This record gives sequence, structure tokens and C-alpha cells, in this order.
Amino acid sequence: MIYDPQVYTIEDRAMLPFISEKEIEKTLKGAQPTRELVHEIIAKSLNKKRLTMEETAVLVNATDPELVEEIKAGARKLKEQVYGKRIVLFAPLYVGNLCVNNCEYCGFRASNKSQKRTTLTHRELISEVEMLEDMGQKRLILVYGEHPKYTPEFIADTVQTVYKVKKGKGEIRRVNINAAPLDIQGFKTVLDAGIGTYQVFQETYHRGAYSIYHTGGVKRDYDWRISALDRAQEAGIDDVGIGALFGLYDWRFEVLGLIRHVNHLEAVYNVGPHTISFPRLQKASNVKYDQKWIVSDADFTRMVAILRLAVPYTGLILTAREPAAIRDEVLQFGVSQIDGGTKIEMKGYTEKDQHQDLDAEQFQISDNRSLAEVIEELIENDYLPSFCTACYRTGRTGEHFMEFSVPGFIKRYCTPNAMLTMAEYLEDYAQNGTKEKGYQLIQKNLAEMEQDHFKTKLEERLELVKKGERDLYF
Ligand code: SAM
Ligand code: SF4
Repeated sequence: MIYDPQVYTIEDRAMLPFISEKEIEKTLKGAQPTRELVHEIIAKSLNKKRLTMEETAVLVNATDPELVEEIKAGARKLKEQVYGKRIVLFAPLYVGNLCVNNCEYCGFRASNKSQKRTTLTHRELISEVEMLEDMGQKRLILVYGEHPKYTPEFIADTVQTVYKVKKGKGEIRRVNINAAPLDIQGFKTVLDAGIGTYQVFQETYHRGAYSIYHTGGVKRDYDWRISALDRAQEAGIDDVGIGALFGLYDWRFEVLGLIRHVNHLEAVYNVGPHTISFPRLQKASNVKYDQKWIVSDADFTRMVAILRLAVPYTGLILTAREPAAIRDEVLQFGVSQIDGGTKIEMKGYTEKDQHQDLDAEQFQISDNRSLAEVIEELIENDYLPSFCTACYRTGRTGEHFMEFSVPGFIKRYCTPNAMLTMAEYLEDYAQNGTKEKGYQLIQKNLAEMEQDHFKTKLEERLELVKKGERDLYF
């Protein structure tokens, strides 16, 4: 079917395009942010109800500083009510940067001849994972360029290799992937290898902008990319992550595009994405980009607060692309996952003392803190760092489960599991006083829990962790 927004009635069916520029533009134009309406919408979200595109557009158009503050306050409140204090930590691992595509913003694009190209060998992959385990990492996202070499079998093989690496007390318990869209059979192959989340970003939901930035290779095809998560679902992957690269087009449009994508997945598969990512464009090797759509810090933090309110039950991922100060602000709005100790150069974890070299990495990152530093700061700010991987290992994924939507779930599972995985980290990897501070925080959280048999069980398990048992979870 040829997509024509002039005549095509948007309805949600598997594999069919669902983004209409006209619909999004009309919604943005029509949204009038009166004070009463903004209050009503924030109240709806605090009632843990998903916002419609129209309601989200009202928040997007609310630029009055007082209303912006109220939106941010609403996001903070929702975070406290729904999310608790745990922040899940992960690290990206770049497996290969060969790429046939020509995304104008990316250092890995095919036309960038000064980029150093590498694919980790089996041995190199193991060494990188060993270094990550030595830091205390338990959750990785493997990242790949798009290239005939990176077949589903290749990806599956790297995933299985990572799971097998065990160094000291270290192990990787969840491997997610960020890879180019596959066909249904390809998705089945990577699912069988035991991936956690499959993540792919649409980059921009606007077709016109998309065609300007994607000038070569398979990725030129907007429809193939936008239907990727439909194919993933058809293949049985019910844990998927969406995202947009902010800075390619109007951020207001992208926010509605993301919400439209959530709506589509919920309408067709009865399950929304597990996570939304919202990277901002960063400097990359030989990349010049249009300053027109660059998202300011003020708009960015406002945007995260709006997303939080719009989809109260979806995990939000913030990456090391952002400077520490921005990360610290948006953590208050319910970002549920961050990366720590990130290196995005190829072989970045094993090749010590690398200075940042734009020709060896995809783009530049702004937060160079080590995992230990990130954890220390989280603890100091009263957040519980978590390496929990319990849900996907106990089958709590997809339609049957979304941690934020089941009342009491965070309290019953996520917070105790955060404490257990944090205790493991404190025992095995913490240095310079972090262990004492970490246990004080665990004690404080325990003191806030009701004295029931769950708490008794948790205390018993924490003692077992101290005695050397590992991988205990609820
Ligand atoms: N090659 C696959 C793809 O394009 O989907 C997956 C890996 S790609 C390395 C991961 C993501 O990096 C892209 O989806 C894009 O959003 C992001 N990215 C690319 N260039 C960037 C830049 N200059 N600044 C920030 N993020 C960037
Ligand atoms: Fe290749 Fe992905 Fe970079 Fe595009 S964003 S050039 S597909 S690695």
C-alpha cells in the first residue's frame, strides 16, 4: 500500500505506517494551554492515566514559566508515587562500526572515510566484557552498525558469547541490543539467543526530515524502520525500546511521534514499549549539522517532564550523551535507567587512557564519570542504584507485565531487588567508603519498609549476600 497522508485514514494495524505528519501538525496547532486545562491534564497523569496526543500537545505548548514549573513539579510527584528511588544502571558496548548507511549525523556513516572501522573479534569481545564485569556491570546493551557482516546469526553469537563470560564474581545477566531493523526470522534468531530488550530509534518521525538525514543504504527506507518493532513483536519479542534523536527536527513534533508510536504498539500488540530513549545530537567525526533544531537545556528538561507525564508507565532512559548536571535534574522526573562508566570508542573498555578521539567513536559523550563515581553520586542523592535483571529472567515481560503498571510492584520487587544487587556491588566492587555509605542507604530504606514477611525475607537474603551468595532476587 502506498502511504499518502492526504487520503490514508490512520488506523493501527500490524506492519502498516501509522505516523501522519498532518495529524501531528494539526494536533500541535490545535492545542491551547489554558491554566485550567494544564492543571486537569497534570491531575490525570498523577492518577496514573496515559495522556492522549492532544493532551500531550497542550503540555508541549505550555511555555508560560509558571506552567512549566507546574509540569516539572507534576513529573517529580509522579516519580515519587510510581517509581520509588531505584535507578537501573547499564553500559553500552560497541561490537562493530562497519556501516552501509549514511546517516548525516553519525560518525559511523559509510561516507566518513576518516572513521577507524573495527569489529570486535571473539577474543576482543570477551576482554571488553571482562573489563565491564570488573567494574561491577551486570546489564549491557550491545550496539552495532548496519552491515551485511552483522547478520542475525552474528548478533546472536555475540549475545551468547557475552552471557558466557564470567570473571571472578562477575557475570552479565541481561544483554539488550541496539541494532538495525531485522526481518521477522532475524528477530526470532536474536530472541532465541536470549536478548532482553530490542531497541531501535526512529531518529526523526518526520518523513521530510528523515529523507534529508538518511541519504544512503537500507536506512533510507522510513517504512522499514518504523515497522521494525511490529516485526519484532510478530517474532515474539515483547520487550522493545523506542527513541528519537533530538536535534534533527522540531522536538515538539518528535514528542508526539513517540506518543503515536506508543499508541500504535498498544493498539496492535496490547503492550507499549518498555522504554523510551531521547538522545540529543552530539558532535561527531566530520559532522556538521543544522543548528535550527538543536534542543536547548531548558526545552530538554521540560520535554523529559512532559514525557514522564504522558506515559506514566514507560521506562525512560537517559544516556551519557548528557552532561552530569542535566542527568541529575531529569533523574528527578522519573528517568528509570542511566548508563554509567560509558565508553563509546571501539575497544573503549580495554584500551586504557584513551583520550576522546572523534574518529574512533560514533559521537562525543558529555558525562565521563566512572561507574563507581556515578554510583557514589546516586547514593549521596538518596537513589538506590540497581543492577536488577529479575523480570525478564522470571518471564515478567510484555503484555503480562509492566513493572510500573502493577500497583505495589516497585515496592514488592524493584526496590528489594535494587537493594540485593546493590549489596552485591558493595561487597564485590565498591571502594573508598562507598560500601559504608551504600549500606547506610540500604538500612535507611529497610527502616522505611513495613515489618512483614517480605521484609524478613529481604533481610535474610541481604545477609546471604554478605556471606557470598549471589544472584538472589524476588
Ligand atoms: N546502527 C544502528 C542504527 O542506526 O539503528 C544501531 C546503532 S546506532 C550506533 C545507535 C544510535 O546512535 C542511533 O539510533 C542514533 O540515534 C544515535 N546517534 C547516531 N549519531 C549520533 C550523534 N551524533 N549524537 C547522538 N546520538 C547519535
Ligand atoms: Fe550506521 Fe547507525 Fe550510524 Fe546510521 S546511526 S551511520 S545506521 S551506525
